[in-house]
Amino acid sequence: MLTSGGDSPGMNACVRAVVRTGLYHNLEVFGIVRGYAGMIEDDIQPMNSRSVANIIQRGGTILKTARSKEFRTPEGRKKAYANLRKRGIDGLVVIGGDGSFNGAQVFSNEFDIPCIGIPGTIDKDIAGTDFTIGFDTAVNTAVEAIDKIRDTADAHDRLFIIEVMGRDAGYIALHSGISTGAEHILIPERKTDIEAMLRSLEEKEKRQKLVNLVVVAEGDDFGGGNEVSKIIRERLPNADVRVCILGHIQRGGAPTCLDRVIASRMGYSAVECLIEGRHNVMVGIVNNRMHYTPLDKAVKATQKISEEWLKIVKILAS
Ligand code: ATP
Repeated sequence: MLTSGGDSPGMNACVRAVVRTGLYHNLEVFGIVRGYAGMIEDDIQPMNSRSVANIIQRGGTILKTARSKEFRTPEGRKKAYANLRKRGIDGLVVIGGDGSFNGAQVFSNEFDIPCIGIPGTIDKDIAGTDFTIGFDTAVNTAVEAIDKIRDTADAHDRLFIIEVMGRDAGYIALHSGISTGAEHILIPERKTDIEAMLRSLEEKEKRQKLVNLVVVAEGDDFGGGNEVSKIIRERLPNADVRVCILGHIQRGGAPTCLDRVIASRMGYSAVECLIEGRHNVMVGIVNNRMHYTPLDKAVKATQKISEEWLKIVKILAS
């Protein structure tokens, strides 16, 4: 088992579930340190029940994570396979994003080793699952931070532009923006009509509606928080505008109950898949049931953002 790509809170709960389910079935379980890089460098440790004690509540990943250029080469993957072979490892669980699943797919095609993917990413942008491990924690961290910003914004009648994570997906922005009562939410899935937003802010300024919050995903097509605040300052010189980029705070911290539960369910299911011979799939949850997607279909996917949600934002901020 390895964790790969960007870390996300709940990965540890998942590692724990994989180890303990494996041991329950009398399997030998190994933890590969620093993702595919550790697999190539032979940084592989046997895991027992105690190695995953007291980690369910911790963010990050005890296995560490990394990105590996060498694993993209046939030579690198050959070395990695040799290290698995010499320990008799005959199945791989990869916790990570779609890039990590691509790597797993290539590896299993080359060496006939069954791989199971588990979606661990705060962005929630993977096809074949309603949840990814870490999204709920990240979005709740963003909400907590935005609530605090709202207090100070309100005290000074300031307009805060808050940038949240999401290079390609706006789920963190959308969920955190709705639940903190943002006036505008800018997301990569939708072309940003900056003129319409400026008109709306101007109109609200005229009728003295207190506008506190605009939430922007870092990957919005107009730009991140700094670009948005720049144009607002230029066009609405009376507005007292501040920017806050939440950044990596969104990746850390204790996982929420939801993330711990889905991480445990997915970790358990991944081991069951290996045992049952359901190979090269990503384990997901759809409509609260386990759902299995072939690894090559578990790609980055921006699930369609519901028009209704965007309407809600507009109506509730009026
Ligand atoms: P996140 O979305 O959080 O960034 P990710 O899993 O998508 O996570 P990537 O950096 O895209 O992160 O991929 C992780 C690692 O998977 C890469 O560093 C590389 O080692 C391996 N990998 C990705 N694509 C391939 C590929 N086509 N062939 C071999 N290995 C790959």
